[in-house]
Amino acid sequence: MKHITKANLLAQVAALFKEHYVLKDGSWYQQKWGLPVVDGLLELPADATEDDITEMIGNYSWTRLVCDQCRRDVAEVVDFDFEIGYQAVRLCGDCLDQARGLLNS
Ligand SMILES: [Zn+2]
Repeated sequence: MKHITKANLLAQVAALFKEHYVLKDGSWYQQKWGLPVVDGLLELPADATEDDITEMIGNYSWTRLVCDQCRRDVAEVVDFDFEIGYQAVRLCGDCLDQARGLLNS
């Protein structure tokens, strides 16, 4: 398990976006909107906000931190080591509290 915060996520968006759009041979994936976005992300200051990053990308898909139980965009989650589908399961504090309540009932 690992703890992921929105701040952690935002700090990694540029690197993850770049990683996603670099091909195995090291060249850039040539989507016409991809390169300007990567360049823009890399030029954002370290304290760029979620809105800054979302505006640069054009959608919130890279800045949302979603709990897999309640589906809310939250400030922090615990990321579990098992996967359902293609990504690890992430749960927010409220859902973990509810789960703990079930175990204690
Ligand atoms: Zn939740």
